[in-house]
Amino acid sequence: MTKMTIKCPECGGIEFEYPDEMEDNSIITCTGCGESRTKAALVEHANQQAKELLSRTFGDRFKPK
Ligand SMILES: [Zn+2]
Repeated sequence: MTKMTIKCPECGGIEFEYPDEMEDNSIITCTGCGESRTKAALVEHANQQAKELLSRTFGDRFKPK
């Protein structure tokens, strides 16, 4: 399983405080700027960034379904 790197949407920080028992609706707080998001929201943000990176890298040759 690939480990996903999650970055703070606000400051780009990668250090977070989170509960021991992580669920999709768990609140994760950025230690850099204090921004709080649910895990699901942060994962969605990371997925969007990954898609944008892919489309920038491969342009029209890569079209995610
Ligand atoms: Zn932050």
